[in-house]
Amino acid sequence: MSDVSEIFGCNVFNESVMQARLPKAVFKALKKTMLEGKEINKEIADVVATAMKDWAIEKGATHYTHWFQPMTGITAEKHDAFITPVDNGKVIMEFSGKELIKGEPDASSFPSGGLRATFEARGYTTWDPTSYAFVKDGTLYIPTAFGSYGGEVLDKKTPLLRSMDAIDKQAKRILSKFGKDVTRVSTTVGAEQEYFLIDREMYKKRKDLILSGRTLFGARPPKGQEMDDHYFGHIRTRVSEYMKDLDNELWKLGILSKTKHNEVAPCQHELAPIFGTTNLATDHNQLTMEMMKKVAKRHGLVCLLHEKPFEGVNGSGKHNNWAMSTSDGENLLEPGKSPKDNTQFLLFLAAVIKAVDEYADLLRVSVASAGNDHRLGAHEAPPAIISMFLGDELTGILDAIKNGEEAQAVKKQFMETGVDALPKFVKDTTDRNRTSPFAFTGNKFEFRSLGSSASIASANIVLNTIVAEELRQFADRLDNATDVKEEVVAIIKETMEKHDRIIFNGNNYSEEWVKEAERRGLHNLKTSVEAIPTFGAKEHVELFEKHGIFTEAEVHSRVEILLENYIKTINIEALTMLDMARKEILPAVLNYNKEVFSTLKVKQELGLNLIVEKEQGYATKLSNLTEAFMSKIDELDKAVVDAKNNEEIYEMAKYHRDCIVAAMQALRMVSDELETIVSSEKWPFPTYVDLLFYV
Ligand code: ADP
Ligand code: MG
Repeated sequence: MSDVSEIFGCNVFNESVMQARLPKAVFKALKKTMLEGKEINKEIADVVATAMKDWAIEKGATHYTHWFQPMTGITAEKHDAFITPVDNGKVIMEFSGKELIKGEPDASSFPSGGLRATFEARGYTTWDPTSYAFVKDGTLYIPTAFGSYGGEVLDKKTPLLRSMDAIDKQAKRILSKFGKDVTRVSTTVGAEQEYFLIDREMYKKRKDLILSGRTLFGARPPKGQEMDDHYFGHIRTRVSEYMKDLDNELWKLGILSKTKHNEVAPCQHELAPIFGTTNLATDHNQLTMEMMKKVAKRHGLVCLLHEKPFEGVNGSGKHNNWAMSTSDGENLLEPGKSPKDNTQFLLFLAAVIKAVDEYADLLRVSVASAGNDHRLGAHEAPPAIISMFLGDELTGILDAIKNGEEAQAVKKQFMETGVDALPKFVKDTTDRNRTSPFAFTGNKFEFRSLGSSASIASANIVLNTIVAEELRQFADRLDNATDVKEEVVAIIKETMEKHDRIIFNGNNYSEEWVKEAERRGLHNLKTSVEAIPTFGAKEHVELFEKHGIFTEAEVHSRVEILLENYIKTINIEALTMLDMARKEILPAVLNYNKEVFSTLKVKQELGLNLIVEKEQGYATKLSNLTEAFMSKIDELDKAVVDAKNNEEIYEMAKYHRDCIVAAMQALRMVSDELETIVSSEKWPFPTYVDLLFYV
């Protein structure tokens, strides 16, 4: 393999390429835009466009695309060649600043949640200079924001950038009270991505995996994850080759892929990059997911990003590690050597605590999807109840402030192994808590409720906005304070008095916590259906409007898109189940019935008085299950047909959850039982053993 430092970022129009290829003044102007979000003028755009094109052509590109992130949750692209005809029947390769800055894709086929009608087709993409352009598959990719002709936001990038501006503005106000004048405060994210890899040939035989991304049928295998032998286990050769290849592709795109390991479930793995600014991390996570799928193909594998591909083993999530940093490189969530004396840190921490407590429902919506409903609260991922883990040291400090006491410094302790030959090191002051949805992990928060297939944009839009709002309130108070130092302590004290109910350092999987959380008055929005509408609550609309993230219409459109998405997902799953049940499972089962009953009939007709009691019992069970299976098909079919009569979107979503999902489960239960008694030769598609234990 070539030297990593050489291939790293070789397909990215990054700062070193810019510096080498752009005139000094242009580079400086572009850098200012990247750092401060200042607008770029047309002359500069022209120069940048030409340099980008020349560089891209050298990398083998013939086309460019405005790469954007519509509300589908994935990315979209339309490719245009650089060609421009000239007189002699030839072409030259051109790319103008105008083409770099603005694109005009037809917006009518992207979800808008009722913001615009199909005939109002015009949409615009706008270059986002804060994320690097790159070359992939012969095309220059330009990261862009996407909106409608009327100015409504139709994507996930625009509000994310706005939310980053909101944090920047409010955090700087706070920092100025501590005598600091910084150019920019950005949020940073490292998104750990979980995924499954399975054999492509097996995958191709399963319509459910192809159409819905998860298995809709499948009896539990004799072995699952109970031996705990997969987590951090040695990586099988085929997978390790895949991971190497994937790292290479990601490195070329300038993605800091750093850690890889096996996860808890069989065939489950994880990739973690080194963190970057949230905008870049979001783009990179999208590219990572795309590459994971693409590279899998080369290795005869398929990468499943669904939140719950298999019942009975863990599903996949995404851990969103989040912090705030100044342009000088100061992490505002770094407690330092003596957290109890670090009032600036404690103030930022208080803002996060207050934000999570006041807007726990918004955080819950930001991770809501039909797929993620299978995980949250299923004792494998954090529960649907949002709470925070701070650890003993910080909780102790904050409690002391709340009670007006002197906080005690925690003594550093050395890790003792009892073996002299092993090096000694200082222990962390707190242990980890894997069950918490929102855990402080030393100098960042880890929001663990995100689904594996989702864009991380939604969660970060909410996180940035709610923290910006608390920082705004704090900054307003400090503006009016006579003694800033005293006011800072007063704010921290008050935050703990009012919001410490959100802190929970115990086991989030336990039944007692569910009861305790209810007693504390915390939200428990169990499914997407009850979570989603809370996004549109009056106070949330006000919040988003105040910080210029969404208009009221945009908020409501997002609620509609989320509900629509939920309904469509369930509907596709139900139709896929019906199709597989009728065309694959039932014929196989009937065929097997024929075999069993023929054998029985032959034995009975021989007149040998053979004892066939067990065989009769077996045949009867098979026949009864077959009959039950057919009834469950009819019931699911009816549930799907009846859904058409339901008009109001929220009612429709509720109906899908309560009636269709229930009918799907009933059908699956019978099918899974049939699978355990029908001959494996006859079973029409690969089983869980085939899928999970490939070599
Ligand atoms: P752990 O999961 O053991 O806490 P790491 O320290 O390796 O592991 O961090 C996990 C993820 O958090 C990585 O993607 C890492 O880059 C990211 N991370 C570390 N520091 C920050 C930060 N200041 N802001 C955002 N993400 C961070
Ligand atoms: Mg982690």
